[in-house]
Amino acid sequence: MPTFYVDLDNTLADRAGAYRAWAVDYLAERGADPSLLDAMVAADRDGLGRKQDTVDDLTRLLDLGPEESEQILDRFRAGIVERLQLMEGAADALSAIRGAGWRVVIVTNGATSQQTAKIERLHLADMVDGWVISEAAGVSKPDPEIFRRAAAVVGEPIGTDDWMMGDSAESDVAGARAVGMRSIWLTRGRPWPAGPEEPTLAVDTWDEVAAAVLATTIAG
Ligand SMILES: [Mg+2]
Repeated sequence: MPTFYVDLDNTLADRAGAYRAWAVDYLAERGADPSLLDAMVAADRDGLGRKQDTVDDLTRLLDLGPEESEQILDRFRAGIVERLQLMEGAADALSAIRGAGWRVVIVTNGATSQQTAKIERLHLADMVDGWVISEAAGVSKPDPEIFRRAAAVVGEPIGTDDWMMGDSAESDVAGARAVGMRSIWLTRGRPWPAGPEEPTLAVDTWDEVAAAVLATTIAG
């Protein structure tokens, strides 16, 4: 049976929602102006930028003292994990895909301690066959090597029947294409960016994912 590879942040897990919820709480705790929320969200860069840039922006924005600035990265990382939820429909989709005999492997870019904490918080170990985290692997999406590492987790080579699902056009969709996999792009309400070749399938929610993936097993 083939393998369904899947991204963690903003695909399986609502990282953006968790960061936003933490930011709301943090502003309230400091007695800061709630209208700073949008700027705090912008500072996060959807979790994809350099962490030092986020720390610098938050320090300026919230007028943090040296000690607070030093601790803000740990604060928001912990805040995200505490508030993290699975995306609506993700658990049911994984259950249906695995129930049909497929393997499921998470492929995520990020810090090992933080991504492991998220996997634990969401009890994902019970829902997947394994995972690869870029920091631990020493290689990040979209480098083909990280997908090969993910395939090694289940002891199978990457096949053309495999799928990769994620919310990043570059890391997930282009990454999948480079190793010959089909791709599902979770739109999160965004239009497909100009430039890269389109994914095999674009979805707004997890609702149609299992049916689409499993249909390809029968067809293939
Ligand atoms: Mg993502």
